Amino acid sequence: MNPPIERGSTRVFRSLSALRIAQGLAQERAVYGRSGGETHRRLEQAIAALEGAEGTVLTPSGLSAITCAFLSCVNRGDHVLVADSIYEPSRMFCDQMLRRFGIEVSYFDPGRAAQIAREIRPNTRALLCESPGSVTFEMLDLRALSAVTRAHGVTLIVDNTWATPLFCNPLALGADIVVHSGTKYILGHADAFLGTISANGEALQRVSASARCLGMHVSPDECYLALRGLRTLSVRMEQHFRAGLDIAQWLQNRHEIEAVLHPALPEDSGHALWQRDFRGASSLFSLVLKPAPTSALEAFFEGLSLFGIGYGWGGFESLMMPYDVAALRTASGWRYEGPLVRIHVGLEDVCALKAELDAALNRYRCFLRTPQACVWRIENQAATGS
Ligand SMILES: *Cc1c(COP(=O)(O)O)cnc(C)c1O
Repeated sequence: MNPPIERGSTRVFRSLSALRIAQGLAQERAVYGRSGGETHRRLEQAIAALEGAEGTVLTPSGLSAITCAFLSCVNRGDHVLVADSIYEPSRMFCDQMLRRFGIEVSYFDPGRAAQIAREIRPNTRALLCESPGSVTFEMLDLRALSAVTRAHGVTLIVDNTWATPLFCNPLALGADIVVHSGTKYILGHADAFLGTISANGEALQRVSASARCLGMHVSPDECYLALRGLRTLSVRMEQHFRAGLDIAQWLQNRHEIEAVLHPALPEDSGHALWQRDFRGASSLFSLVLKPAPTSALEAFFEGLSLFGIGYGWGGFESLMMPYDVAALRTASGWRYEGPLVRIHVGLEDVCALKAELDAALNRYRCFLRTPQACVWRIENQAATGS
């Protein structure tokens, strides 16, 4: 049932004519082991099938998938557009590396994506976005966006990590290149790093050439783990979807919270787009707390046991992370004053997760200027004698 783990190795040939035949195949794989063997091919084929793509290229991490996709379509003097809601390290690559190689980078407000045509310059070559943004969860109209990028010869690169290939297929909506951090839900067990890039036709050829030039190599063990993750992806995602939405809805009723940012909630501004383009939702979403002193957020994060404080979501475990959104953005404002907390709902018992969130919100409430009873603070002060 499962492929063997074919380790990376050099290839040897019995004769010069056998070498020449392999060289004639014009595939690096036929002459040298860097681009992988059977284990890699199985995973490439599986991701390509799930994304409805002609082919998939593997990279060592989600970030390297993004950088490799970018480098496949830009030249010195070009301009790229990036959504202001993008995954932060993608921004670091654009600002620190693309700019150094003479490529102009500008960010656009995801709330104004309908006016993207105005941002396109004669030298614009690529546009990178995520829908929804994986911290702030604004949805983008990928169909409308791709109509504009197509008309201007701009390569549309979509980071589809949040939805997984099960819940959304950006190529079918008009994207040219789809990337995933396989590290998240695809591997699904918080135990390895992997990236994938899927595309068709000329875009795929350029991505393959870019990966070859950059020397991208993934361990076959990681490919094996990703294949194993894929076998349970549908059941895990169904549980993540249900549990995440249940907790998001439950949080909406808490008065410590200003807003819950989750496109599967009917009240969310991106809900109609989510309904149109997605078959489900993952369990990563954010809540915005009412403004309170910094110590309130510290109290919120104090003594958590099920929720870890960490970045790398998509595994079995629940996580939370605070973000200062205003500090991340350069092209758009942020309408909320209070702190944003991103939540990843893992596969634990939903009631136990709610109990832990309930306790965290009760601790937070003590710092709000409201008449609500504040037992935690009083008890805490008594315990510390302050
Ligand atoms: C984590 C993440 C990445 C980067 O993936 P790594 O495998 O950690 O390099 C890219 N995009 C999004 C949306 C992510 O959450």
